[in-house]
Amino acid sequence: MSQETETIKVLIIGSGPAGYTAAIYASRAGLSPVLYTGIQPGGQLTITNDVENYPGYPDGVMGPQMMEDFRKQAERFGTEVRYGVVTQVDFSQRPYKVLVDDSKSIQAETVIISTGASAKWLGIESETRLNGKGVSACAVCDGFFFRGKDVAIVGGGDTACEEASYLANICNKVYMLVRRDELRASQIMQKRVMNNPKIEILWNHETEEILGEEEVNGVRVKNNQTGEEKLLDVAAFFVAIGHQPNTDVFTGLIDMDENGYIQTKPGSTKTNIPGVFACGDAQDHEYRQAVTAAGTGCMAALDAERFLSAQE
Ligand code: NAP
Repeated sequence: MSQETETIKVLIIGSGPAGYTAAIYASRAGLSPVLYTGIQPGGQLTITNDVENYPGYPDGVMGPQMMEDFRKQAERFGTEVRYGVVTQVDFSQRPYKVLVDDSKSIQAETVIISTGASAKWLGIESETRLNGKGVSACAVCDGFFFRGKDVAIVGGGDTACEEASYLANICNKVYMLVRRDELRASQIMQKRVMNNPKIEILWNHETEEILGEEEVNGVRVKNNQTGEEKLLDVAAFFVAIGHQPNTDVFTGLIDMDENGYIQTKPGSTKTNIPGVFACGDAQDHEYRQAVTAAGTGCMAALDAERFLSAQE
């Protein structure tokens, strides 16, 4: 670590709804927080279009605009927003040592981890090209735009089953593309999709290409047993093959579950390290909504404030 070390009362790592909400609360409490944005300033919402389920925006808002609003609100109360990625942490003693961009050393009295999660993608070209134009990794966010239409979803885990059931409530028909001849999901979720007449499971099917120029208008799929290809006439393509919490930098340094989500004490954002708090999708694989992330961001700032007061 470099020689020049700065000490910060509240260091916030990550710039999604959780991080910015923590920043709003911490700055209004006079704690002069510093927020590092991470690789994707604004987080997952910057790759969505309309957000219609965030309270307070009756006409909806574009995801990038909403995150711009969050940032401005945090800065208005004195949060220092910096571009940079935390590349190393040392939680062995307080103040905690944090290295940014492999070069800048910081000491933090408290740390709020709000690094979020990333959806896993198939990795095909048409998926990237049509992202936000009918390709989505969040049925709860984007399913509504395709109500009454035929849609496809890929994945066979609990998330895919849950999202397929959600889509079946609002869409005309849901094709579920499963790459094997069985689902990974829990029995109860399997039954739910198998018994839903609006969901058709295509076993042993893989996605060859998502069709469309400006919007999705079909998917070409292939049976990986027979080699047979077919076209599905769908208006949207949902990817539900799992999420990855962005917590690699903390591996081995803080308690996590087997999937890498940071563990927090029930009803709080406290981790097993005193003064280190976790909020948003980095610790939540269950709800993963902007509004729930913001809620836990608020909790993290309050937890940090109480922690600092108790130290004084
Ligand atoms: P998951 O359990 O890892 O399932 C991922 C699914 O996507 C699997 O069916 C997998 O197929 C498939 N898949 C992965 N890569 C693929 C690819 N390139 N092409 C096609 N299919 C692909 O992920 P998850 O469903 O997001 O669940 C994550 C964790 O959260 C699990 O522990 C789950 O139980 C939990 N969860 C619980 C609930 C709930 O209890 N309500 C809800 C959601 C999630 P294979 O099976 O062939 O590998």
